[in-house]
Amino acid sequence: MHKTPSLLLVLLGSTPGVETDTSQEIDDDTTPIPSQVEAAIRADTYTRWVFEVDAVGGRTLDAETSTAIPQILTQLVDKPDGIAFVSDDVLEGQLLWDDAALRAIAEATFDDDAGTDVHSTHVMLLDGTYTTPNVLGVAWEHTHVVLFTDAIVSFCAFGPGDADRVCPLVERGVLLHEIGHILGLVNTGLPMVTDHEDPDNSYHDVDSDCIMYWAYERDGIVQYVQNQWSNAPDLGFDESCQDDIAAIRLR
Ligand SMILES: [Zn+2]
Repeated sequence: MHKTPSLLLVLLGSTPGVETDTSQEIDDDTTPIPSQVEAAIRADTYTRWVFEVDAVGGRTLDAETSTAIPQILTQLVDKPDGIAFVSDDVLEGQLLWDDAALRAIAEATFDDDAGTDVHSTHVMLLDGTYTTPNVLGVAWEHTHVVLFTDAIVSFCAFGPGDADRVCPLVERGVLLHEIGHILGLVNTGLPMVTDHEDPDNSYHDVDSDCIMYWAYERDGIVQYVQNQWSNAPDLGFDESCQDDIAAIRLR
């Protein structure tokens, strides 16, 4: 059976004691790719990709995020009928979210009812914090994504104007990182064309210029956004990540 990272393995940057046998996964063409990863990348069964957004009251994705992320993904995956975020349920909030609470609310609220030719990914905009407070987003089972919106604001808004300038890009970056895990990056179901997994932080890119770097689902992304502010912010997947996706898309 292919390795299916638990919630914690995807969330936490370092996974002491977990061995990843990269060479075997690259060479073994028979290793099954998780069906959700294939569904997101290829158009065989699903020609459209929808992000079903459930949110604790009042929370919404930044409008630019809702258009920028589909634009990025359209370049990477094969979805001729489009990619979109669709607002759905209003969720009950709480102060602290542990793994059991996340799994429970995810199971109770993911409708996955967008249509037979539509692949759905579940995005939850939650209040409160995760049990690891500087973790700003999580993803699991190539299906569910959580953004901890209160935690994002607590880390992104330092100076005057940050709430408007920095916070939307931090939110966008964390979301893109988690969608990367949905796509099987890095080495979480999507075979690596060339080895680009961080030896010290499993399931993340070794290159700090890639959005799949381990720190970018944590408060480390704030510095990344601020450093790039004078240039055009580039919160994308690096060439190695793009190659991994393309290998499945073009297979
Ligand atoms: Zn991650």
